[in-house]
Amino acid sequence: MTSQPFIPYGRQIIEDDDVAAVVDVLNSNWLTTGPAVGQFEEEFAKYVGSEYAVAVSSGTAALHLAMLAAGVSEGDEVIVSALTFVASANAARYVGATVVFADIDPNTFLMAPDAVAALVTPRTKAIVTVDYAGLPSELGPLRAIADAHNLTIIEDASHAPGATYQGRPVGSIADFTAFSFHPVKHITTGEGGMVTTQSEAASHALRALRSHGIASDFRSREAMGTWEYDQVELGFNYRLADTNCALGLTQLRKQPDWLAKRRGLAARYKELLASIPDVQPQLVPADRESAWHLFPIRITGENVVERRRAVFETMRADGIGVNVHYRPVYLHTYYQNLGYPSGLCPVSEEVYDGLLSLPMWPGLDAPAQDRVVASLTSALAGQ
Ligand SMILES: *Cc1c(COP(=O)(O)O)cnc(C)c1O
Repeated sequence: MTSQPFIPYGRQIIEDDDVAAVVDVLNSNWLTTGPAVGQFEEEFAKYVGSEYAVAVSSGTAALHLAMLAAGVSEGDEVIVSALTFVASANAARYVGATVVFADIDPNTFLMAPDAVAALVTPRTKAIVTVDYAGLPSELGPLRAIADAHNLTIIEDASHAPGATYQGRPVGSIADFTAFSFHPVKHITTGEGGMVTTQSEAASHALRALRSHGIASDFRSREAMGTWEYDQVELGFNYRLADTNCALGLTQLRKQPDWLAKRRGLAARYKELLASIPDVQPQLVPADRESAWHLFPIRITGENVVERRRAVFETMRADGIGVNVHYRPVYLHTYYQNLGYPSGLCPVSEEVYDGLLSLPMWPGLDAPAQDRVVASLTSALAGQ
């Protein structure tokens, strides 16, 4: 069994045209703040149907800048989904805000609008909703809550480029949508991220903040023949280099194909898993299409914690790169030290106990998928 190749849960695909595009930039005049940045932003905006897209150095930087552009600061509260990668919550901490964790729905694993509504206070300023595994958030009900209380919606769509909600692409709906181009995500730039918005004013704010709070960039000053620049606020160096953006461009052109492959794999997983007891896949409501960054299942039944560990270990021993996404954020030491009690979001904790991410990426083929399901089946049977 272990003589078979290891199947990762996800990984990048880099082809000759990706390499050539990066080499072209290396041989050009502009390694950073050059033409590839704007081109990547433009094509990405078109892909997700947004007015504006601002490229940044990571998905985490995208979330941080969205917080700043939304005007979130010390003393504010930000409601964040409990079942996510830590970066979704950390962004609120970077600007000194208090994170208020909201529980999830036990079937979609998405932040539950009822839970959010119950947590709104006069101090609430923003909501960070996560498109877990690629499934678009409850954007309609969340918009109603946000509008009633004048809140900004920041959608963490690190898992969801190409996903749709009621026919609209993710990236065109929330006030700010953050994407990640880490190698395990849909498309990669090495490290990298993007913020999309429909607000021109917000796009200007994001552009200034990603480059020290200076409104003009080096290339535009060169073009105008001036050395003058003015820092008007405290910004960062969160720029994405042209080498990264060139890679992003070639990757982006393959994304429709890759997404179709992911969707095919997800449909096939669902068929193969349908007859296996104690396996609950993520429920996809009829009004949306997932981008399937992950294929999470929830193991149910007796002794879930022990069983999930045993299944994880058996599958790893079979050369299957299963993983777990995610430990509820407030159970991490940093958040425990801030005083969040365990038991805070009981559904998130209960779901987490049985969660397992099966391999999901466009390089996975049917025989590999069959191996995953066979391994899972025998692991669950305790063999
Ligand atoms: C990957 C990821 C991020 C962070 O993205 P980076 O590009 O690694 O900074 C944030 N949120 C979620 C849900 C992610 O999966």
